[in-house]
Amino acid sequence: MKFETKCIQSGYTPKNGESRVVPIVQSTTYKYETSDEMGKLFDLEAEGFFYTRLANPTLDAVEKKIADLEGGVGAMLTSSGQAATTAAVVNICKAGDHVICSSAVYGGTFNLFSKTLKDLGIDCTFVPAMVTEEELNNAFRENTKLVFTEAVTNPSLDVADIEMFAKCAHAHNVPLFVDNTFPTPVNFRPFEWGADIVVHSTSKYMDGHAVALGGVIVDSGNFDWNNGKYPMLSQPDETYHGVVYTERFGKAAFITKARTHIMRDMGQQQSPMNAFLLNIGLETLFLRVPRHCENALAVAKFLEANDKIEWVNFPGLESSKYYDLAQKYMPNGTCGVVSFGVKGGRQAAEKLMAELKLAAIVTHVADARTCCLHPASATHRQMTDEQLVAAGISPNMIRFSVGIENVEDIIADLKQAIDKV
Ligand SMILES: *Cc1c(COP(=O)(O)O)cnc(C)c1O
Repeated sequence: MKFETKCIQSGYTPKNGESRVVPIVQSTTYKYETSDEMGKLFDLEAEGFFYTRLANPTLDAVEKKIADLEGGVGAMLTSSGQAATTAAVVNICKAGDHVICSSAVYGGTFNLFSKTLKDLGIDCTFVPAMVTEEELNNAFRENTKLVFTEAVTNPSLDVADIEMFAKCAHAHNVPLFVDNTFPTPVNFRPFEWGADIVVHSTSKYMDGHAVALGGVIVDSGNFDWNNGKYPMLSQPDETYHGVVYTERFGKAAFITKARTHIMRDMGQQQSPMNAFLLNIGLETLFLRVPRHCENALAVAKFLEANDKIEWVNFPGLESSKYYDLAQKYMPNGTCGVVSFGVKGGRQAAEKLMAELKLAAIVTHVADARTCCLHPASATHRQMTDEQLVAAGISPNMIRFSVGIENVEDIIADLKQAIDKV
């Protein structure tokens, strides 16, 4: 099936007389005839549903669809994007381990690595978004277990050189994890460029309507966990009578362990209702994302031509330092988010935003409605000035998430607000 068809058809094929639409299976539990059958599920010897914390038919259909869209061997939905990143990392990292992460990642991910995981004993080295191959190679240690980056960073819109990241990670026998939230698989499929694990906040374009929080982990199935660095996957797991994930589940070892171990113990499950809503969003993903990108390019060009605007950052602009990388990895567009700085600093930014009528001030991004946010006073307000600079955020930055309305209305709204500054 072609990509567009997968968005609509993948993951669920009803049998004769069954519901045409993926049903919401709002049940915690599933019935079996004998305890023996149930026992086989607990031993991972049979496949089936027994408790919704581990698996649910609604989630299962949506997971299969997303795995198909990314070109992976399996996926696991989580309650949020943050839960997806946390689960993916702790699936192969424990106290005493080390990870490498781009400093320009989403604020919540930055906090997760710089504080929460650090407090739990997982150390992190941050590297600049435009890290050179040499700098990246120098960040590796004996105990490094993974490299993490965003394909296009939120909100600084840095485009990662994924091929280079993958090459360095693999030279050190560790996997590359990519947060693909902003481009979505419509614009970019990280596995085709060497990434091993993909995570998403499905709360953004995938859901697309700002109705359901969620996240997902997708496994490419390509990484060789049998290289001596990942005993949690290549050695017996005593909590499942000594199952060895790489032996029993082959290419799906990572994603199976994420579910049977991390989800079992930590329980960050997505609700069936949210998975149902997410699935409706996925059905139109291929229609919405190009429109977001097209509108964003028009907005970016309008801003660039306006005297009161100090700078515009959008990887689709030829003036962007990421233009070439964006053309290489995402020739059809990166995302619908544009960031810009208005002359007059923080105060001018706040004034402009207050004057907007169609674009709403919300702590969200990447949904159908145009919205905006001032990162320095919202998502990134806990950062020091130095950390802000490292994350590519200036005090006058406005993150402008271009929706799928008629772009003339979006530009007219911006124009009247800029005129008042
Ligand atoms: C929003 C976002 C997250 C966090 O996702 P939640 O669903 O809000 O937990 C992670 N990464 C990126 C790139 C995001 O935009």
